[in-house]
Amino acid sequence: MSAGRYAPSPSGDLHVGNLRTALLAWLWARHSGREFLIRVEDLDRVRAGAEQRQLDDLRALGLDWDGPPVRQSERLGLYDAAIARLQDEDRVYECFCTRREILEAPTAPHHPPGAYPGTCRDLTEAQRAERRTERPAALRLRSEAATFRVEDEIHGTYEGAVDDFVLRRGDGVPAYNLAVVVDDADQGVDQVVRGDDLLASAPRQAYLATLLGASPPTYVHVPLALNASGQRLAKRDGAVTFTELREAGVDVFALIVESLGLTGASPGGLLKSFDPAQLPTQPWVVEPPVSSGR
Ligand SMILES: [Zn+2]
Repeated sequence: MSAGRYAPSPSGDLHVGNLRTALLAWLWARHSGREFLIRVEDLDRVRAGAEQRQLDDLRALGLDWDGPPVRQSERLGLYDAAIARLQDEDRVYECFCTRREILEAPTAPHHPPGAYPGTCRDLTEAQRAERRTERPAALRLRSEAATFRVEDEIHGTYEGAVDDFVLRRGDGVPAYNLAVVVDDADQGVDQVVRGDDLLASAPRQAYLATLLGASPPTYVHVPLALNASGQRLAKRDGAVTFTELREAGVDVFALIVESLGLTGASPGGLLKSFDPAQLPTQPWVVEPPVSSGR
């Protein structure tokens, strides 16, 4: 199977920029003859009722998907198995650092800024035993790559940093970078369309995929929606959700379609003339009255 996907976190309602990314993911998948899957990334920051409202909004936008949505919270065994596999290959170590310790640690010359400095990589078993009494360990990947290269249909070949990133957080929750890679591989997702704020994490995820025996997907990191001040669109910008916009008399589908320079009355209608090469490559600045609705 070959599939694309949209994977929202049910931490609140989707805003019009999220809905635009979802429509693009649908178009890219359907245009390339792929199935389209919905995955609810609910390992963290779940708000009651948000999942159902998000699915309702995606349907109201005219999107359909193959099979029922899957929830990450119901797939914990898969993440455990992937970590166990990496542990068997000695690719995992415990990290006891606080966020502050990582920020204040001297950065090794060959590490990019912000990368984990490797503090806990070579602790002795005695040191680990002592630190386990202080706080629960996170699990990090013992990475053997400093950078990794991915292919992106908008950004071309993109090479970015790979460090010893977290696989399981200290509170026991599987890290985003692990879960997303395990799920994409398990679900046959070979095309990942998402906001370009995630481009920098794609090399880590693609590298991890290869360690787990999977082929990295083709990436499509699409421009984000910004507010009039050039910041990422957010709820504080006023009427930005499907319901808020509809109540303000806005045709949300038409608004998104216009922002993409497309014409059509339904997702299926857009598909007939969809040409990825013609899409805007700059961020979408959401203009008033949308952002003046506060
Ligand atoms: Zn550490």
